[in-house]
Amino acid sequence: MSQQINRQVVLASRPNGKPQANNFTIADAPIPAPEDGQVLSKTIYLSLDPYMRGRMNAGKSYADPVEIDEVMSGGTVGQVIESKNSGFSAGDFVFGYGGWQEFWLQDGKKLKKVDPQLAPISTATGVLGMPGVTAYTGLLNIGQPKKGETVVVAAASGAVGSVVGQIARIKGTRVVGIAGTPEKCEFVTEELGFDACVNHSLQDFAENLKSACPNGIDVYFENVGGKVFEKVLPLLNNFSRIPVCGIISSYNATQLPAGPNLTPLLMRNILVKRLTFRGFIVWDFDSQEEEALTQLSNWIKEGKIRYREDIVDGLENAPEAFMGLLEGKNFGKLVVRVSDEPAG
Ligand code: NDP
Repeated sequence: MSQQINRQVVLASRPNGKPQANNFTIADAPIPAPEDGQVLSKTIYLSLDPYMRGRMNAGKSYADPVEIDEVMSGGTVGQVIESKNSGFSAGDFVFGYGGWQEFWLQDGKKLKKVDPQLAPISTATGVLGMPGVTAYTGLLNIGQPKKGETVVVAAASGAVGSVVGQIARIKGTRVVGIAGTPEKCEFVTEELGFDACVNHSLQDFAENLKSACPNGIDVYFENVGGKVFEKVLPLLNNFSRIPVCGIISSYNATQLPAGPNLTPLLMRNILVKRLTFRGFIVWDFDSQEEEALTQLSNWIKEGKIRYREDIVDGLENAPEAFMGLLEGKNFGKLVVRVSDEPAG
């Protein structure tokens, strides 16, 4: 191997509110050597996902934080350079949690092979990876959409939301997306086939959402929280189901928002309308991962599910791209191309 240095992005300091460029540092480290059972891979694609914001805070959430001076954690698609594990050979494409760096060592038990014949290998970070499984399991187990019902999903052009809406459509529901720009809304209706999409950044968002849901909302797949949720709440029907997947609008918050305390209103709605809210983390449904990936790849082959990727070139651009993700600047699954895919 000609390259001797492993470039990394490490957490330099913890953000207070929105992450800033100086919370990250680019560092050089030696390329590690695999020991028995381990595999050394070269990163091709690094997945950037909203959960990484939580990992930048001190204190445990549902997972441990990244420590200061530690490499930022993240899912990676790579190619095996050297293997001391009989299950993997040099040249194999793999997915693992390699982090924001050019080379990574992993115990073979934690690696998954990626089949380049199935779909572009980058999809192992998105529609055929963690976000796709999140959409499939959260919607079907908790949302339980039924033919003729209305399903609403926010961050509708993104990695999770785009898959949620397309599965809901396959299940015969009316699907309404919520997104932050006219271009995203057009993509959601024209390319993904949602019945309608409403722009949450417009003044008349609440009225537009009401018009798009003439029969109310039966399933609201929650990705963003905040002001979007406040406008959804009055439209929820009796017995509606709300899979709480993410609340990205508050990931940078340092305190509760000013204004009236809306907890009594929420509790009254839950009681009177008999609403079911259930938070979940994708690994709660680990036993369904294989089923989800098989079904999603079949739907992609049949042309029933489409996906869009937002690919940023260069590991050094990962921090800026990640900061943009928390402000809606990405358009599709956000991925960093850390190195080129091998030719052929
Ligand atoms: P996306 O690809 O959808 O990108 C994030 C999108 O969120 C942005 O493009 C933007 O879309 C929207 N957004 C960002 N900031 C705000 C804001 N302040 N208010 C409203 N919308 C905002 O990301 P993912 O699909 O990867 O993730 C979607 C959600 O799912 C996140 O909350 C994430 O944490 C959660 N998640 C949860 C998992 C679990 O196991 N529970 C697993 C994976 C993801 P727009 O411009 O259209 O508003």
